[in-house]
Amino acid sequence: MKRDNMVLNFRKNAAQALRDASLRDAMHTAVNVFATKRAAGVASVPMDVWREKASAVRLKVIDNLPEYVDRFSENATRAGAIVYRAHDADAAGDIILHILKDRGVRRIVKAKSMVTEEIRLNERLESHGMEVVETDLGEYIVQLAGESPSHILAPAIHKNRRQVGRLFAEKLGVDYSDDPEVLTKIARRVLRKVFLSADAGISGANFAVAETGSLAIFTNEGNGRMVTTLPKIHVAVLTIEKMIPNLDDLATFIRLLPRSATGQALSSYLSIVTGPRKVRDGSLVEQLHIVLLDNGRSRILQGECREILKCIRCSACMNVCPVYKVVGGHAYQSTYPGPMGIILTNELEGLTRAHPLLEAGTLCGACAEACPVKVPLVRLIRRLREQRVERKLTPGSERAGMSAFALAARHRPLFASAQRFSRLLWPLLGALVPGGALKRLPKPAKETFSRIMSRK
Ligand code: SF4
Repeated sequence: MKRDNMVLNFRKNAAQALRDASLRDAMHTAVNVFATKRAAGVASVPMDVWREKASAVRLKVIDNLPEYVDRFSENATRAGAIVYRAHDADAAGDIILHILKDRGVRRIVKAKSMVTEEIRLNERLESHGMEVVETDLGEYIVQLAGESPSHILAPAIHKNRRQVGRLFAEKLGVDYSDDPEVLTKIARRVLRKVFLSADAGISGANFAVAETGSLAIFTNEGNGRMVTTLPKIHVAVLTIEKMIPNLDDLATFIRLLPRSATGQALSSYLSIVTGPRKVRDGSLVEQLHIVLLDNGRSRILQGECREILKCIRCSACMNVCPVYKVVGGHAYQSTYPGPMGIILTNELEGLTRAHPLLEAGTLCGACAEACPVKVPLVRLIRRLREQRVERKLTPGSERAGMSAFALAARHRPLFASAQRFSRLLWPLLGALVPGGALKRLPKPAKETFSRIMSRK
């Protein structure tokens, strides 16, 4: 799918988000709940040992990715699945359309899947007259609202219950309620009918187990299990880095992923799908199609930010990020927000378009500390910032300022004069530098450090 090539405008989006009081409240409540639960969830377990192990497994996978993809494909095929390889979003869309059109599919139920957001699969299928219904409650809410997810695990994190109540009343014609239990029951009633009449289900997968050809799908709502078992056709779409070697390794991630995400010891539902379901006399009536998508991963694998492919999409880094916590996910204009989103978006869409996201981090390191697979988030963001400077993508005023500083720093008398005059010229410089950046800094001191030291 073609994306527009406009440079992302993170500063403008963030400023807009900061003016939205209800967004700030919703984000504050939700991420604090996540952070508190995660802290409680990891307090009583040997997280450091688990993280070390999980990091080593993920590193082994990305170091040997083509081999694991081949092994998974062979074993999934042996188990009865039909496996496809898609180089990019367009190819994946073509394959999925072909599968569904050939089988006369009209209505599709979907489990939450960030990769289908990445390739804009819903738009593609809808443009061919198919009805696609999201069945994860958060995804269902943002689909009804005509929005995109703002968090990889909690897509409607930016909405409060009153907004959801008004949305349901308007779109579903039900009485207004802001009681989460009532709203959940309404969604369940509507979605149950859709599940029973769907021709096909589309899901992602948290992991693909190379040794057995199995897909591991973690959910908390049970919708994933219904999407993968109720319709006769199940299409799973996943990117190639989702591989893990074997079921023993899966055990590590079964414990680690939910704790890092929501603080839960285990996800409410874990489905391990190995081939299509066999019904009556062993004949394969149901179909499992697995689309393995590259979409830039092989290229990322060759580059300096390859370790971002270790990411298991737990969302811990965004839940602790001081920037994400206040601006929310939409400010990033990307499928993937937060610290890991900054890196992945730049790697997938290119620095030319996505480099402003590199300003969406304080380099405080909270993200890297929280990451269960030890993705060196700070190092990768810093490296991308260096590339941004090398490619002269930073604002002209910043480049001019840095050049002037470099010149002064190399010539002591010039540096001393600049120090003397900076206090005098500060109001003028403050007016010249865009965004009021200098106005937020303290004024230069009356007396410089070197002058004080020279008197000692
Ligand atoms: S980078 Fe780490 S913390 Fe962030 S989503 Fe990925 S695995 Fe989770």
